[in-house]
Formats: sequence, C-alpha cells, structure tokens
Amino acid sequence: MLRLRRRKNRILVAMAVDELRWADKAACKGANPDWFFSTEYEETEKAYALCTNCPVKFLCLEYAVKDPCITGIWGGTSWRKRNQIRRLRKLRNDYATTYRQEEW
Ligand code: SF4
Repeated sequence: MLRLRRRKNRILVAMAVDELRWADKAACKGANPDWFFSTEYEETEKAYALCTNCPVKFLCLEYAVKDPCITGIWGGTSWRKRNQIRRLRKLRNDYATTYRQEEW
C-alpha cells in the first residue's frame, strides 16, 4: 500500500512539473511579479504588455482557467475575465450535453 502511494505521489509530482514546463519560456520570467498582482493601472499595463507577445500565452491562460483560486494576471487576463471564460465554457458544455441528449 505504501509503495503504491509513493508511486502515485511520484506520478503526481511528474505531472505537476510537466504541466509547468511551459513557464520556462514565459515572457514574464524575471519580470517584477508585483505587476501581475497589482491594483495600480501603470503596473498592470506593464503585465498585460508582457502577456501580449508571450509565446506561451495560451498555455498560461488554460492553466489559470482550470483553477478559480488563481488570482492576478495570467495569459493576458484578469481573474474576472477568466471567470467569464469559465461561465461561457460551462454554458457551451451544458448546451452541447442537452443537444446530444435530444439527438437520441
Ligand atoms: S502570458 Fe503573461 S503571465 Fe503568462 S507566462 Fe506569458 S507573460 Fe507570464
């Protein structure tokens, strides 16, 4: 049982590392992290500017959309914008599920 748990933990750690591998290519690497969690307009604009040309923007966005607890600017979006994306995706999935059920 202990061996199985250790193996599971190793797999989970490997998955987490793999999931964040894209962060090495981030445009914000080395930038001031405060810009991404600030309430000052000038600072958040600097963060959005970095995100605009970031090569891993969509991976970053997907990562942040998956977890509603993640705050700050990720993938060029605010927490509020990501909530909108989550709501739209839920609506789309609900619609798709309903449509599929009516088909049968
Ligand atoms: S999209 Fe923005 S927050 Fe995400 S890695 Fe790129 S620069 Fe950083």
